[in-house]
Amino acid sequence: MRRRLVTLLSALVLAVTGSITFGAVVPTVAAADGCYTWNRTLNQGATGGDVTQLQIRVAGWVASGENLALDGSYGPATAAAVKRFQAGYGLAADGVAGPNTFSKIYALQDDDCTPIHFTYGEFDDNCGANNFNGGRVSAATAKENIRRIMWQLEAMRRKLGDRPLNITSGFRSVSCNASVGGSSTSLHMSGLAADLGMSNPPQCTMWNQGKTAGFEELLGPGYPGHNDHVHVGNKSGRFWSAPNC
Ligand SMILES: [Zn+2]
Repeated sequence: MRRRLVTLLSALVLAVTGSITFGAVVPTVAAADGCYTWNRTLNQGATGGDVTQLQIRVAGWVASGENLALDGSYGPATAAAVKRFQAGYGLAADGVAGPNTFSKIYALQDDDCTPIHFTYGEFDDNCGANNFNGGRVSAATAKENIRRIMWQLEAMRRKLGDRPLNITSGFRSVSCNASVGGSSTSLHMSGLAADLGMSNPPQCTMWNQGKTAGFEELLGPGYPGHNDHVHVGNKSGRFWSAPNC
C-alpha cells in the first residue's frame, strides 16, 4: 500500500523531481511506495527493469489467449495491457503508465509487492511446510513465480466484479505434490500454478476468465481430477481443457 508522505514533503519531492515541458511542471514521481516506486512515466519504446515491474502487475489484463512477456520492453502488447488495466479501474485509458496508473498500483500492492487481496501464506505448501522449499526450483524463484500468479489473479478478481478468490493450493514441494496425488510434472512444484476452489464464482466462469488473465494452463470441470476446482498455471504452450464448460 502507498506510504503516505506529509504534504510538505510531497510538494518538495515534486518540486525537485518535476520536469519542465512546454512551460508546465509535470511530476515524474507519483509517490513513494513501500514496495517499489517508479521514477518516470513509461510509454512505448521504454526499456528497463521498471518496465518489467510494470509488466508483472498488468500481466492479468491481456487479450484472450495472450501471454504478456516480462521482458522489460514496453511494446504494443504492454501498452494494450496497461490500457485494459486503466479501463478496469476507471482511469483514463491511454496505454501510458504515468502518475495515475502508478498511484493505482501503489494502492493495490502491499509492502512485500504482493497484491492486497492475496498473501504468500495462501499459496504456500498445502501440506503445511510453509516455506516454499523442496520444489523443483529455489524457494526464492517459487515465491517470485507465485507473485506473478497473484497479480494475474488480482486482475481476474477485479474482472469478476471484485469477487474474493479462494486458493486451495499453490506451491507444493515434490513430496507434498506426490502425497496429494499431483502429476509428476505438476507446475505446482515450481510455484507456477494455483487451484481455485468451489467457494469461488462458478467454475466455468473462472475457467473462462482465466483466458484473459494470461494463463497458458487452464483446467476445469470435465478434465480428470478437476471437477472440484479450477487450475491456473503459467507455462510455454497452451493447455486449456474443461470439457464440461
Ligand atoms: Zn492444480
